[in-house]
Amino acid sequence: MERELASLEEASLRRSLRTNSAVPGSPGRMVRGTGPNNLLNLSANDYLGLSQHPAIVEAMRDTLLKEGAGAGASRLVTGNRMAYSFLEEAIAEWQSCEAALVFANGYMANAGVIRAVVGRDDVVFSDQLNHASIVDGILMSRAELARYRHNDMEHLGALLHKHRDKRRKLIVTDAVFSMDGDQARLRELALLKREYGAMLMVDEAHSGGIYGGRGEGLCHLLGIKDEVDIHMGTFSKAFGVYGAYVCGSRTLADFLVNKARPLIYSTAMPPALLAGIAQALVLVQQEHWRRDRLESAVRFFRDSLLSLGFQIPAGDSPIVPITIGDNETALRFSAALEEKGIAAVAIRPPTVPAGTARIRFSLSAIHTDEELRDAIACIREAGLQLGVIRR
Ligand SMILES: *Cc1c(COP(=O)(O)O)cnc(C)c1O
Repeated sequence: MERELASLEEASLRRSLRTNSAVPGSPGRMVRGTGPNNLLNLSANDYLGLSQHPAIVEAMRDTLLKEGAGAGASRLVTGNRMAYSFLEEAIAEWQSCEAALVFANGYMANAGVIRAVVGRDDVVFSDQLNHASIVDGILMSRAELARYRHNDMEHLGALLHKHRDKRRKLIVTDAVFSMDGDQARLRELALLKREYGAMLMVDEAHSGGIYGGRGEGLCHLLGIKDEVDIHMGTFSKAFGVYGAYVCGSRTLADFLVNKARPLIYSTAMPPALLAGIAQALVLVQQEHWRRDRLESAVRFFRDSLLSLGFQIPAGDSPIVPITIGDNETALRFSAALEEKGIAAVAIRPPTVPAGTARIRFSLSAIHTDEELRDAIACIREAGLQLGVIRR
């Protein structure tokens, strides 16, 4: 272990935990370690700025006082409190689907659902840039992994053709890719899934809450939600809380209650958490101004970086990475920003492909115009200092 850690260090790939604190009343800011420095947090997924919303905190506190800290058992034993059915009905209504299930988090939802739905005789077609929780689900399922090049529909088509006789075929993709912020080609995926009789699973971790009139996500916005057999998203990002949902047919939900191991073999979620999510779901649907605000912040931020000469992938999501390439330069960029009052973390392999280390900015509806203007000035300075952009 020591040798491996040393070689990670050598390659500027060693990771370590740092302690952060929230700034009460300012969900868009944070404090690092014990420093007095109040930083602008450009590395959180709190896209709608809900993580400190008083109504959510109050719902959690009220339920905590009434129902206590823990659920005491798994859902199939005695942990399935009322708060679950209340929340799952609200999710099904929001998503216009037959049934919804709540999972403890997105990682467990992806890993558990994929492992439940496919097995040894099956094949999973997975975008090369899909989230690690999807990849882990596929590995656990023992299904064959057919990885297609990022958003390359021709490659996917060829793989679907090659595996056309397999028992079950599952195409799985992030809707918005977590480290690049670009979108999956969902309409084309829906056509291919039909053509080859495959199932389609879409992970809306970074699009749920953000797209659609009530934050239903990208599949709704693009009008393909009826083609999606397994629709998942998290409550940990735009919703500002914690947890995940899986939506689909009644049969899917019944099947998962019988087969998804994270649901069967893990303790039910604390009722207070479920109540907080339910309140967040109300706010996400009602407060459309948060999506409008986020959209204009994203446009300003992306346009400013482009005009300064930074390389960023196309898109309109609040995930805006500046590709640096080299691990050490990415770390130095992040450190330079921190000195200027901005928390923006360097993302390195294996989270992203080798040679594509980056600073991954993520924006929030809670950031003000002034904060973003200041941030752009700091990013420009750091970019010039490190030779990432030229004057
Ligand atoms: C964050 C993320 C997850 C995991 O969700 P958690 O609730 O944080 O466990 C799953 N998929 C994608 C694409 C993600 O970005």
